[in-house]
Amino acid sequence: MMMKTAREQIVAYCSRMAADGLTLGTAGNISIYDPELHCMAISPSGIPYSETDPKDVVIMDLDGNIVEGDRKPSSEYALHSVFYKADIGACAVVHTHSMYCTTLACMGEPLRAVHYAIAEAGTDIIPLVPYHTFGTPELAQAASEALQTKSRGLILANHGMCASGDSLKSAYGLALTMEWCAQVQWRCLSAGKMNVLTGEEMAVAMEHYKTYGQKSDGTHPRGYSSV
Ligand code: 13P
Ligand code: ZN
Repeated sequence: MMMKTAREQIVAYCSRMAADGLTLGTAGNISIYDPELHCMAISPSGIPYSETDPKDVVIMDLDGNIVEGDRKPSSEYALHSVFYKADIGACAVVHTHSMYCTTLACMGEPLRAVHYAIAEAGTDIIPLVPYHTFGTPELAQAASEALQTKSRGLILANHGMCASGDSLKSAYGLALTMEWCAQVQWRCLSAGKMNVLTGEEMAVAMEHYKTYGQKSDGTHPRGYSSV
């Protein structure tokens, strides 16, 4: 069986995504990329997370071909692929319909630097990808264009969010942080007052994140949720 550990991790984090309230039902999906195999392992389409087994995870190349697996892969395989093709060091992607990111997505709002924790995404604004039907090449293309900003996360208009990382732990940590930041931003918008940090203030916060915590290699801004 190819990518056995990745399959097990995907099943474990899909359950966690449901338990943490980051998604509802079979919405959302998770993948892990192996740069040596040039393949990703991705959750199957439309199977409840509590019923998903490692053997249901599908192995695909980045051109949309199934390499191993009997199940239909997530309808968002092309969306996941564009993260691995972008030059952002992504080895895992988490896509959810989490409540506050999705609220901003439905308001047509990107995630702004209301709180410095957004630095975990390696950017001071997490772009809003224009609306396209879920599971389409058009959505993947629009996401690919937004990734040119080098943001590790995206807000998908009228849909949800994506978070990437150099490991599933880090991608999942960013998904949690983005959801927290989205809730803060939504509360500010609801209260009618929002102070957005400047590019300069965010650049300093990003530098600080590189050495945050006990063990940091200084290459990636690490957040509170991914250490
Ligand atoms: P899948 O069940 O096909 O992964 O789709 C869920 C989803 O979130 C579509 O955007
Ligand atoms: Zn979705």
